[in-house]
Amino acid sequence: MKIEKDVSLQSMNSFGLSAKANRLVAIRSVEEVKELITIGLSAPFMILGGGSNCLFIDETYPGLVLKNEIHGIERVDEKKEAVILKIGAGENWHDVVCWCVEHGYGGIENLSLIPGTMGAAPIQNIGAYGVEIKDVFHQLEAIDLQTGEVRIFDKEACQFGYRNSIFKHELKGRFLITQVYLRLSKDKHQLNTRYGAITSFLDKKGVTKPTISDISEAVIAIRQSKLPDPSTIGNAGSFFKNPEISPAQFESLQAKFPNVVHYSGTNGSVKVPAGWLIEQCGWKGKRVGNVGCYAQQALVIVNYGGATGEEIKAHALRVAESVRDKFEIPLTPEVNFI
Ligand SMILES: Cc1cc2nc3c(=O)[nH]c(=O)nc-3n(C[C@H](O)[C@H](O)[C@H](O)COP(=O)(O)OP(=O)(O)OC[C@H]3O[C@@H](n4cnc5c(N)ncnc54)[C@H](O)[C@@H]3O)c2cc1C
Repeated sequence: MKIEKDVSLQSMNSFGLSAKANRLVAIRSVEEVKELITIGLSAPFMILGGGSNCLFIDETYPGLVLKNEIHGIERVDEKKEAVILKIGAGENWHDVVCWCVEHGYGGIENLSLIPGTMGAAPIQNIGAYGVEIKDVFHQLEAIDLQTGEVRIFDKEACQFGYRNSIFKHELKGRFLITQVYLRLSKDKHQLNTRYGAITSFLDKKGVTKPTISDISEAVIAIRQSKLPDPSTIGNAGSFFKNPEISPAQFESLQAKFPNVVHYSGTNGSVKVPAGWLIEQCGWKGKRVGNVGCYAQQALVIVNYGGATGEEIKAHALRVAESVRDKFEIPLTPEVNFI
């Protein structure tokens, strides 16, 4: 285990910001984390996966970055109908999806092409096209960075919600997730094709009995057509969460804006797409200096090159302020500000 000093994070954050870490250590095993705790892990420190949901505000992160590189995929239980996989938190998420699709394991094909690592996926309960990781989640192993104790969190203990879990609140920064266990189907896959874009892709290809591989292919094609590739234009996907408002609040919103787009949210709430709200404020495709809102999807804030974390933050605040002024709806960032 080697602690490096003054390390560039540019290739480790999907905004492509030229941030630096005062110190960085690659973590390859639970033993290495324990060793680090024994040496003395003093604040500030942070855990980094693929950096696809982080905004480094300052040019230098003043503490120690723990870069998760715990690898491996193992079948820990296998029955006729399902398999439980134990996956190292440092595995690339999309590679895991492809591996599962290749092996005929179903349940995460709708989550194809989401950037980042396995270990970060439960943090915000990643989701796309009607599926969230909680739907296939079995349990995870994490190490308490204060005590060095390894703890198992089942689904209930993770307190999953919409882009949310206990690791974003009460336990933020306290545990380093080392292994995630997923329960995937081996036959009678429950395909989720209710998104119009998926069905029209399959129709166009003449697929009448889709497989998990067809769904994955559809999702990849749809995502490539509307989301910017971070290797070309820096971004962190959706910058804000879709606001969930009460039915009463929605009624008065709809009275003022009859064409408001909406879906059903959690616990009887109404979900209003943040992208629609931002677009109505005139931000779609609008550039301010080195930053802007992506032309195909206003919810994605992009770095056109050379932007700083402060510039991106300032743009996000401007966007959120105009949405609040027009619709009286606060936007909550999905991206983690570091
Ligand atoms: C183009 C694009 C599209 C995207 N599309 C989606 C989408 O459709 N759905 C979706 O949900 N998200 C999406 N995202 C967001 C992002 O990919 C996910 O949130 C992903 O899970 C982040 O993984 P990461 O490894 O990059 O996390 P990082 O950005 O490295 O970290 C995110 C947070 O998790 C913490 N963390 C990371 N690893 C660990 C660990 N092992 N233990 C404890 N804490 C940890 C970090 O400290 C940080 O707070 C998108 C991002 C991009 C750039």
